[in-house]
Amino acid sequence: MKCTIFFDLDDTLIDTSERHYKVYTDILDFYEIQNTLAKEECWEQKRNGKKTVEFLPENSSEEFIRKFICEWLKRIENMNYLKYDKLLPESLDVLSVLKNRADLTLVTLRNNKENLFWELNNFGLANYFKTILVDSPFKVKNKTLLIKDYIERNSKSDDFIFIGDSEVDISSGKELGMLTIAVTYGIRSKEFLTKLRPDFCLDNLSALPEILKGIGDDS
Ligand SMILES: [Mg+2]
Repeated sequence: MKCTIFFDLDDTLIDTSERHYKVYTDILDFYEIQNTLAKEECWEQKRNGKKTVEFLPENSSEEFIRKFICEWLKRIENMNYLKYDKLLPESLDVLSVLKNRADLTLVTLRNNKENLFWELNNFGLANYFKTILVDSPFKVKNKTLLIKDYIERNSKSDDFIFIGDSEVDISSGKELGMLTIAVTYGIRSKEFLTKLRPDFCLDNLSALPEILKGIGDDS
């Protein structure tokens, strides 16, 4: 029987770093705040586990932080910003190899489903997935219940794998007792992710088919 592989989207299959940076700088520009971090510094902070509000200028008032969060949520899934996302170069090749061996399911937390599907179609990602699971980050904190509910209702398989780049992904995969794979090129660093004890850490997605062969899903 085919196994089911749950894939995270943001920074596992696509690179959202430019979008995140553009939203950050545009909001600070909007409030005429000068001392923004460079993109590399900003991403490094995120890779070390920090949220954007944790590296705003030091003298930021609580009121400004509240306004920043509000603007962030308004902008982060807007089409004007989604166009900054890039498809990671290995994604389609890896999905195309795995599609014949496993049921591929995308699981993502996005508030604007219409824009999500525009993006998936724009990158040619949608057709690789048997199922796309999406819930709003305003409603849920992680992906655990979304996946659990899907498995209970639909899946005939009992062999599950989760692959993602953040603590949210790793904790859901582990909580559900799945083989859990962390990719280390996304929003969190290898050092950060290793502490969460995933089953595997991958520096490049192209290593995934070989690893899955090794654990015997390919029989
Ligand atoms: Mg992600």
